[in-house]
Amino acid sequence: MIRATAIFGGTFDPVHYGHLRAAAEVCEKLGVDDFRLLPAGQPPHRDHTGAEAYHRLAMLELALAPYPDLAVDEREVRREGPSYMVDTLATIREEAGQRPILFCLGQDAANQLSGWHRWRELFDLAHLVVMKRPRSRPRYSGEVAEVLRDRRVRSVRKLSEAPAGRVCTVGVTQLAISSTDIRNQLAEGRDPRFLLPSTVLAYIRKHGLYGCGES
Ligand code: ATP
Repeated sequence: MIRATAIFGGTFDPVHYGHLRAAAEVCEKLGVDDFRLLPAGQPPHRDHTGAEAYHRLAMLELALAPYPDLAVDEREVRREGPSYMVDTLATIREEAGQRPILFCLGQDAANQLSGWHRWRELFDLAHLVVMKRPRSRPRYSGEVAEVLRDRRVRSVRKLSEAPAGRVCTVGVTQLAISSTDIRNQLAEGRDPRFLLPSTVLAYIRKHGLYGCGES
């Protein structure tokens, strides 16, 4: 077990088995003693979310309740204003001291890195773990490609040797599930069972989220 904090960010609107399986696999591959899923409060790259942040947080907590090794970090939901990852990681760094922080993001998100607020500073705060899905390809813009290449390490073990600044890729199983598809199914009155935990689906129905229950 590596003494390090791993952060798996997402909108989780709603959380589904694609997220959960990827989190379980990357948690196992990294072997860290502190693994957290961190729901975005107000994602800067989206106009709006389907469900309010407190609902997305509640659904994530329900999904992870049986799995104490996968924790929820609530800080972005509790914070006002847009959720910039660089600010979030700065607060985690304050708590972590010199402990390594591993920020996990999907290949699709990594491909957009050049558009992230103060993206260069992310490497002062954390390592980047790019979760590569089988059909996803790296498509980095010029400077990002160079920075990632210079910082790349081949083994996750190298991430435990420094607090931040390295980049590693890990493979995860791609399940063809997306929150967008689940929201669409609910809005159309269809049943997305088996794509997400039944406790989460029950919560969605109870609170009438994503247009379910509207005629
Ligand atoms: P949306 O459909 O609303 O865009 P999403 O299903 O892609 O949402 P996010 O909350 O945006 O989910 O994703 C959070 C993280 O989980 C990202 O890093 C993303 O790459 C990863 N992820 C999402 N869906 C899957 C999946 N089916 N398999 C593996 N990883 C996934």
